[in-house]
Amino acid sequence: MRSIISIHSYKKFNKKDICILTNLSGLDIMCAVMQLSSEVIDLSVRFLVLLLISIFTYRKKYLDGKGVFAAFIIGVLIIYTGGWVFFILLFIFMIVGSILTKIVRKKSVDWVSYFNSNGLRSWKNVLANGFWPMYSAIIYSIYPDTHKMYAMFFFLGSLTSMMSDTVSTEVGMYLGGAPVLITNPKVHVPKGFSGGVTLIGLLGGLMSAILFSYLSAILFGLSSIYDVYTLILAGFIGSIIDSILGATVQAKYRCKLCGSVIETRYHCGEEAELVKGFEPIDNHVVNFISSLAGGVLAVIFYSLLH
Ligand SMILES: [Zn+2]
Repeated sequence: MRSIISIHSYKKFNKKDICILTNLSGLDIMCAVMQLSSEVIDLSVRFLVLLLISIFTYRKKYLDGKGVFAAFIIGVLIIYTGGWVFFILLFIFMIVGSILTKIVRKKSVDWVSYFNSNGLRSWKNVLANGFWPMYSAIIYSIYPDTHKMYAMFFFLGSLTSMMSDTVSTEVGMYLGGAPVLITNPKVHVPKGFSGGVTLIGLLGGLMSAILFSYLSAILFGLSSIYDVYTLILAGFIGSIIDSILGATVQAKYRCKLCGSVIETRYHCGEEAELVKGFEPIDNHVVNFISSLAGGVLAVIFYSLLH
């Protein structure tokens, strides 16, 4: 009992000398109390950080009310299972995505008319982006001995894929010219249209996958360069899969009044007709699938290299 308390106390407080070398039970009790209080403080700090971020996100209108609630629940599950590093990486993805979206949406007015959006990300968006990272953080904490590396790579592949897709989309809309359909480069599509890509957008997506993979490797202490390549490749391919699904199976509608081709079922206050893809598959479902694909690819590449 003494040694367990002592080692934990050493990790938390660097009080090795006091806790291990002494035989005084009073100091053991002190070590136990200090450890307990440090854990209570740690858990409280995590909760406080989540609460502050949620309030900030809501006030800054990065998410609507339900979106903030969903993000808070996912944040709680990730920070209490995966821990700080999982949470910090997801937070960086969220911040980069939100800032880019704000900047781009200010510039491209036509974007809003195509998507009929109120400019706020909803709970569906949060779930599409946060589900697989949350799932892998939980698996990481349940099976630390057997599934740790797989869960970590699944998490990173999924997150890198979403990062690459987000940056690719926003950079393409801000700097790129007229996008072309990824499945048929001869067909031009409106800016922001799912399945549309620009060269500068793809380069931006690749750059972000590279930067995010290096950052992830540093934070998780991955020393092999092949681990970084694994993440870059899985993330970039994941974002390409997102575009391909967006161009093929995602539902597209035509407004009966103004004739615009859109991705939402309603336009100009009327129900639009389905012209392509499948009705249940909207942008959120595509994001959900491609984030899963990024995670699965990272696990496959990791298994092949180890
Ligand atoms: Zn219309």
